[in-house]
Amino acid sequence: MTDRVIFLGGLGRSGTTLLERLLGELPGVVPLGEVVHLWARGVVAGELCGCGEAFPQCPFWREVGERAFGGWSRELAERVLRLRHRVDRTRRIPAVGHPDLAEYVAAYRSVYAAALQVAGGAAVVDSSKHASLAFCLAAGGVQPHVVHVVRDPRAVAHSWRRTVPRPEDGSHMTRWGAMRTSLHWSAQNLALDLLAARGVEVTRVRYEDLLADPHATLTGLAERLGLDTSLGFLDGTTVSLGRAHTVSGNPMRFAVGQVELSHDDAWRGGLPAVQRAVVSGLTAPLMTRYGYRGAAA
Ligand SMILES: [Zn+2]
Repeated sequence: MTDRVIFLGGLGRSGTTLLERLLGELPGVVPLGEVVHLWARGVVAGELCGCGEAFPQCPFWREVGERAFGGWSRELAERVLRLRHRVDRTRRIPAVGHPDLAEYVAAYRSVYAAALQVAGGAAVVDSSKHASLAFCLAAGGVQPHVVHVVRDPRAVAHSWRRTVPRPEDGSHMTRWGAMRTSLHWSAQNLALDLLAARGVEVTRVRYEDLLADPHATLTGLAERLGLDTSLGFLDGTTVSLGRAHTVSGNPMRFAVGQVELSHDDAWRGGLPAVQRAVVSGLTAPLMTRYGYRGAAA
């Protein structure tokens, strides 16, 4: 039986962590965080799980590791990281016939299957974001349903310019300038569009639509994904979030309790005109494709 895998793709700061938390409240859905970072940040570095425990101490992940691999080990993590370096890179997306692909994908498949067993769920969510991993999974026979999360590149660029502390270790998250963000935004989104052209099931969600009408957007998405559409955790724009055992992701993954969903459009006042022009110029074709208005907006 094929495990049901929902893969959230998109450039960082596009709302993938938020969407994962919301999907994770649906019955039978098991949110895992960014599984691509499980090996280095979870197993090797022992960073925090979304539940607040360090990864090695988290009972959920401990049991998943036992079932999937007879326990986590640095050797296993380093092996997967070496495989990742060989097969899972954006510039190698077309090279899906790599001899190491099957072993690399098998590691993810084992994690997904064990997580479903431990949590007693029907579908896992992997919010790894990178299109290259989605390509690997698809080529390796996992058949993920990819949810392509898109956000206005000017908002994304504004977010990448800001200093954001990492709750895991107090260091700061990476910062990018407008040009770099634009290039990454275009590359990731084009690659995710290409997945659909290759026959992978891809559903696109705009961050702005999710925030404008969370109920309608989540209901539509849950139906597309074949999930239970009970949205009892959502009241208008307020959500009640439980604990989630997510490895890696933005600080939103630690939020628990009542959370108010608010549309962050600080870029409108905060992103300088020159940067705005750079972003709009470099991303114009895709902005139009996704329904974002250009320079006049
Ligand atoms: Zn945990």
